[in-house]
Amino acid sequence: MDFELSDDLRALQDVARRFGADHLAKNARQWDREAELPRDIVAQLGELGFLGLFIPTEYGGSGFGDLEATVIMEEIARYDGATALTLDAHNALCCAHVLLAANAQQKQKYLPKLASGEWLGAWALSEPGCGSDAAALTATAKLEGDHWVLNGTKQWITNGKFAGLYVILARSKPEGGKDGISAFLVERDFPGLHIGLKEDKLGMRASDTVELTLDNLRVPKDNLCGELHRGFRDTMRVLERGRITIAALAVGLARGALEESLAYAKQRVAFGKPIFQHQSIQFLLADMATEIEAARLLTRKAAILSDAGKPCNFEASVAKLHTSEMAVRAGLNAIQIFGGMGYTKEVPVERYLRDAKICEIGEGSSQIQRIVIARHLLNL
Ligand SMILES: Cc1cc2nc3c(=O)[nH]c(=O)nc-3n(C[C@H](O)[C@H](O)[C@H](O)COP(=O)(O)OP(=O)(O)OC[C@H]3O[C@@H](n4cnc5c(N)ncnc54)[C@H](O)[C@@H]3O)c2cc1C
Repeated sequence: MDFELSDDLRALQDVARRFGADHLAKNARQWDREAELPRDIVAQLGELGFLGLFIPTEYGGSGFGDLEATVIMEEIARYDGATALTLDAHNALCCAHVLLAANAQQKQKYLPKLASGEWLGAWALSEPGCGSDAAALTATAKLEGDHWVLNGTKQWITNGKFAGLYVILARSKPEGGKDGISAFLVERDFPGLHIGLKEDKLGMRASDTVELTLDNLRVPKDNLCGELHRGFRDTMRVLERGRITIAALAVGLARGALEESLAYAKQRVAFGKPIFQHQSIQFLLADMATEIEAARLLTRKAAILSDAGKPCNFEASVAKLHTSEMAVRAGLNAIQIFGGMGYTKEVPVERYLRDAKICEIGEGSSQIQRIVIARHLLNL
């Protein structure tokens, strides 16, 4: 077992780290305050190949696996969680669903646009009435002639404001339960897609989150993505793999909290010495570093299994659960190390805490992860 990154992965890590340090770090606070991610940052992410992480090179993507994605996500989230969440929804939800379920023509049509960043991708499963219990979704899809007609409301849709392509899950068979759900590829200008206002959120503020209204939304028949009525099965597979990327995002946020804390602990003086010389501060730093190390290993283990095509539902859930809760603890510890200053927006640690909280909620809350893990343990 080799715990070192290969030279290629280290080079990739370096590219992502330099981009984060040079382009994200100094602006993240302003973007958070203004709740807006500039469009040119998305374009730059496209140029770096970060918008086509999993998309094969034949479609203009980077053709990476999950391990490469975890390395990139950690670096981007270390500097700006909102940029990382934008990447996550685009790559690990929208693009991943297209890659998993779309037919050859659909891939040819949409993947090059998604890989280049010409179009940002969004993925719409949640609704006002259901999130964790996604199989209870009520948006409907009815076939009328050569179009599907979708009606309903989708909520909390990341990248929804600017996306060019939306993967939308809707009920194609009223009585089918989870076996009556299908996925549809919806272009931004299809008639009947209404994009709501951005949510005013606690964290990840520069990542846009909107409600979508599907009002007799007309989707060409050919834009069914995957097998009819089997969209929920694909959805679960997308979410399982997506947990690895979100875990890496959480590791990055925690690392940001630790690195900022280390720097502050060296410069802040209390009782005649820098605060890092107080053992209680050292212990907080040691606890954060220990948890981050463990979280990164869990995340990379799940990624390596996934890349090898091995089952990793348990490992992905364990990684997501641990990293999310660890990142929130790291944010709280960092605020403690910064003292009163940590409680202000003058320094980034309160943002790391606010950003980390979504990792315990989105793409399967911590409670849902515990259910997945317990089911695995008990063979339920
Ligand atoms: C910033 C942000 C971005 C998002 N982006 C997207 C996106 O791009 N696309 C998308 O489709 N969705 C997105 N979501 C939605 C997200 O996936 C849901 O919020 C999440 O799945 C939880 O669903 P919910 O909010 O309806 O909470 P609920 O499902 O109503 O859960 C409420 C509480 O009950 C708990 N709970 C629920 N069921 C159980 C159970 N069986 N046992 C124990 N506890 C349970 C939950 O853990 C939670 O604590 C986003 C949400 C946010 C806040």
